[in-house]
Amino acid sequence: MDFRLTEEQEMIRQMAADFAVNEIAPYCIEWDKADAVPLDTLAQMQELGLLTIGVPAEYGGDGLDNVSKCLVCEEIAKGDAGLATTIVASSLLGSDPILVGADDEQKKWWYGRHLEGAVCGFCLTEPGAGSDALGMSTKCVKDGDHYILNGTKQFITNGGIAKQFSVFATLDKQLGNKGICAFMVDRDLPGVSIGNKEDKLGIRSTSTTQVIFEDVRVPASMMLGKEGAGLPILMETLDLSRTAVAAMATGIATASLEAALNYANERQQFGKPIAAFQAISFMMADMAVRAEASRLLYLKAAYLQDNGGLFKTVSSMAKLYAGDAAMTNAVDAVQIFGGYGYTKEYPVEKYMRDAKIMQIFEGTAQVQRMVIGKYLSKNGYHPFA
Ligand SMILES: Cc1cc2nc3c(=O)[nH]c(=O)nc-3n(C[C@H](O)[C@H](O)[C@H](O)COP(=O)(O)OP(=O)(O)OC[C@H]3O[C@@H](n4cnc5c(N)ncnc54)[C@H](O)[C@@H]3O)c2cc1C
Repeated sequence: MDFRLTEEQEMIRQMAADFAVNEIAPYCIEWDKADAVPLDTLAQMQELGLLTIGVPAEYGGDGLDNVSKCLVCEEIAKGDAGLATTIVASSLLGSDPILVGADDEQKKWWYGRHLEGAVCGFCLTEPGAGSDALGMSTKCVKDGDHYILNGTKQFITNGGIAKQFSVFATLDKQLGNKGICAFMVDRDLPGVSIGNKEDKLGIRSTSTTQVIFEDVRVPASMMLGKEGAGLPILMETLDLSRTAVAAMATGIATASLEAALNYANERQQFGKPIAAFQAISFMMADMAVRAEASRLLYLKAAYLQDNGGLFKTVSSMAKLYAGDAAMTNAVDAVQIFGGYGYTKEYPVEKYMRDAKIMQIFEGTAQVQRMVIGKYLSKNGYHPFA
């Protein structure tokens, strides 16, 4: 068993880490306060290929494997989880339906635009359908060689900046899972509009909005797979990109630990650095264990994805564990900073606000437990399978 990264994986990890240290971390508090997407930084990331990770090589992309994509997500999230979320929603969650379900012409359209700078978004959640996403109401009705889309999608990452969306809709709610269809939708089609921008607790450097479809005529050629065959595309997409959320959460867990370690070695109380107190040192030891375990879990899931293994339950475990680890580590970092941790002078209060979303989006912690529990009761637990 070899835990080392390959030369290529280490190269891309280091590139993302350098970018996060030099171009993201120094500005992340500013972006958080401004509640604005740093478009100039996104342009720099586009130049470096960080906004289009994993576009298959046959369509002109870097063809990165899942391990590499997740390493990028972890490193960028160490700098700012909002920017990492922008990447995940565009190149992974938003684009994975294309990877999974598109034909050659469709891939050329989507990836061509993406590589030229089109940010992508993923439209599944609705005001009335969150964890129960299959209870969606957004309708698609066939009209000649088009489908007409009507409905509102809620909490869409990159809503305000995306140029293309992967969208899930139903032919008829009565058809249940057999009525789900997946589409690629150009943001500029008549009838596509952006609704409320959310005023969020954290990841404030990323755009989260409603996306509204009113009598949008989508060419039938933009449907992924066959009519009513959207469910497997959706499920595979969520299974794939969940691992990247675990990687982002690991980034927050690690950034929290690093900030706490630096501070605890400098801050003196009772004539000693607070790191010398066992209560603080043990807290940091637990933080390190959580960061390390999160990383091992997401790397295992990504490795299985790259090597044709059974990854779905492991990716749920990784997302569940790393989300909780990010939250706990960030709360502990604030504690180690004492009163200063409670101010906006240091990034740890931001880590705490950013971490919370890792337990909510792409399947809440409760939903991940449901997925894992269901798998276990059907198949049992086989650690080396
Ligand atoms: C910042 C942000 C970005 C997002 N980005 C996107 C995006 O790009 N695209 C997209 O489609 N969606 C996106 N989402 C939506 C996100 O995936 C949903 O918010 C999430 O799936 C939960 O759905 P909900 O908010 O409707 O909560 P609900 O489903 O209403 O859940 C409320 C609570 O009930 C619990 N619960 C629900 N059902 C069960 C059950 N059966 N058993 C036990 N507990 C249960 C949940 O765990 C949760 O604690 C985003 C959300 C946010 C906040």
